[in-house]
Amino acid sequence: MARRFRGARIVVASHNAGKVAEIADLLSPYGLETGSAGALGLAEPEETGATFRENAKIKALACACAAGEVALSDDSGLAVAALGGAPGIHSARWGGPGRDFALAMRRVEEALAPDADRRAAFVCALALAWPDRHVETFEGRVEGRLVWPPRGKRGFGYDPIFVPRGGSLTFGEMEPAAKHAISHRAAAFRKLAAACFADESQPAG
Ligand code: IMP
Repeated sequence: MARRFRGARIVVASHNAGKVAEIADLLSPYGLETGSAGALGLAEPEETGATFRENAKIKALACACAAGEVALSDDSGLAVAALGGAPGIHSARWGGPGRDFALAMRRVEEALAPDADRRAAFVCALALAWPDRHVETFEGRVEGRLVWPPRGKRGFGYDPIFVPRGGSLTFGEMEPAAKHAISHRAAAFRKLAAACFADESQPAG
């Protein structure tokens, strides 16, 4: 059985402002205070894992041990069917050293043949780690397709080129609440909350 979290504060093990904001939104119904590795000035560990789950574990453990607090990390990315799952765990790196997502999106588009299968999925692994090195991981996914050119200024990363299955708006065009309801991150978070949040910290209402 998963270990339950009974504290009042969680440190989000990320320096990515878009991710920290989305995770803080997901945690807020539970009345939990959030900090972030970025705000605490913690170093970013090297992501040497071969999977989303392994990289999420590395980040959460590094943050929990450095901060001495429970830490929640997210390792996520875009998996494009016609590219054999790329950019996958390297999604952030496709934006180059400046994390330029206009460039990353263009690189994905240029890698696709004109008649390519445009199916893609966003995948998210969440890891919740304690300073004693206990860690729990959960994975979520949302299926969809890629569009070009990019549309919408909301969200972050590859959101402007991803349309979830059954929809017509990109994640970049959707209201944040609409993205949160169906996103890979929300799917992983629902599993985490069911497994690790004690009954008394269920969302109000
Ligand atoms: P990580 O920080 O190594 O996990 O990199 C994840 C990268 O995947 C992000 O920088 C984005 O490029 C991409 N990504 C993950 N989740 C999303 C999302 O919800 N929307 C758009 N891009 C995402």
